[in-house]
Amino acid sequence: MTNYKFKRTIIGQFSHGTDLLEELTQLVQKEDIRSGRIHGIGATTHAIVAYYDQNTKKYNSMEFTGGMEILNLTGNVSIRDGKPFVHVHLLLGDPNGKVFGGHLMPGTKLWASEVIIDEFEGEELVRGQDEKTGLFLWKTGKLT
Ligand code: ZN
Repeated sequence: MTNYKFKRTIIGQFSHGTDLLEELTQLVQKEDIRSGRIHGIGATTHAIVAYYDQNTKKYNSMEFTGGMEILNLTGNVSIRDGKPFVHVHLLLGDPNGKVFGGHLMPGTKLWASEVIIDEFEGEELVRGQDEKTGLFLWKTGKLT
């Protein structure tokens, strides 16, 4: 377990038509946020999220064309390959209020966004490939 201290909060919106994962990654790298929490809401014109299949150990992507609400954007910032890395999950609502979601992938285009990023100070959480899951998980910060 690692303790963190709150450092600062960044609040803002990304431009219409931009790629959500690209914008988040560029922002945390530019601001050198190495430990953080990401929250947000908004809407997409095209969304790609993925489900991690535990048997094949592969991400299966799902595409949502047309407008979707971002009902919740939640994630974190840690370190992968020596650089700040964004891991985000999205909950998307369709025109009937049905909800879908998954792991944010490149290619998700924004209609609008309201994003809040909390930066923390403390030991860096560094990702590395985990043998059991095949995922790039934190190598530190074990709670159990
Ligand atoms: Zn994920």
